[in-house]
Amino acid sequence: IAKSNLPKYEGLDDRYNLIKKLGEGAFSNVYEAIDKKTGQHVAIKIVRKLELSQIQKASVLKEVQIMRTLNHPSIIKMLAFIETKDVILELMNGGEIFHQIVQLTYFSEDLARHCIKQVAEGIRYLHEERGVVHRDIKPENILFESIPFMERKNSSLPTQPEYEDEPKEDEGEFVPGLGGGSIGRVKIADFGLSKVVWDKQTMTPCGTVGYTAPEIVNDMRYSKSVDMWALGCVLYTMLCGFPPFYDESIATLTKKVAKGQYTFLSPWWDHISVDAKHLDTQIDAPMTAQIKDSKEEEKKFIAIPQRQSPDLLV
Ligand code: ADP
Ligand code: MG
Repeated sequence: IAKSNLPKYEGLDDRYNLIKKLGEGAFSNVYEAIDKKTGQHVAIKIVRKLELSQIQKASVLKEVQIMRTLNHPSIIKMLAFIETKDVILELMNGGEIFHQIVQLTYFSEDLARHCIKQVAEGIRYLHEERGVVHRDIKPENILFESIPFMERKNSSLPTQPEYEDEPKEDEGEFVPGLGGGSIGRVKIADFGLSKVVWDKQTMTPCGTVGYTAPEIVNDMRYSKSVDMWALGCVLYTMLCGFPPFYDESIATLTKKVAKGQYTFLSPWWDHISVDAKHLDTQIDAPMTAQIKDSKEEEKKFIAIPQRQSPDLLV
């Protein structure tokens, strides 16, 4: 986006100059900006004014309310909140993990481990110390502090299974690795769908348990297990470059997800370590996987996660 096309920032004191657009969400645009007072580069999430209904306003307030209580190295910091709509955030120069996966085909196991550990720490903090469920963990909402160090990839794998557009050229591909260089932290962004599910004082479910309707008690959308599930999907995507569940038809995709049916598709998963594939059975998680050793069997391999009973209330 050309600099002259940027809107003039009309927030408090005209304190920020917009430099470039970083991203776009459902109701907001995110820009890199410079704080004229301090010279600090920041990110500003600007809610598009015209589209702002009362409900959306309340939702921004809720997002800000939750972000205000958060302080962890794996969570984007909110620096300020201006004129009840613009959120000033710590700038993440490396952009989305999503973008890096698209760019680089897939991550090395070292890089995936490095990223997922930090995201998991952030989620642990949210769940156990803040009683917050994020509810929108995905590669678009996880950001790199700086751009990852690249390593040359040596692979003959096509980019994606049948739903690919075009396989990428094999030569000259790069996989980000740790390579001794620091790639900085990765952090969780976008608390637009997050919810406080625990009372912070008592660490008990919000609402009066005995009076909560069964459909709310049983509603998986309010459970912290949704973040753990999503974390697993992110790890899967990082390692092979495509998501565990995919279909062009939303209805079919929904069925696949509901069944929890995913496979470690050959050849994309052939080179990935057994440890990574076994992860869902090693951690204290509700999944069982049937790992088959033989290559032929592997093509038919299907891991069937078992549903976890909901453990949180509204
Ligand atoms: P939405 O709730 O509309 O999805 P997000 O908070 O996810 O909005 O921001 C949209 C996009 O803007 C992100 O996916 C990311 O690309 C970019 N972005 C958001 N926050 C930052 C930040 N602090 N630093 C850099 N880029 C950001
Ligand atoms: Mg988002």
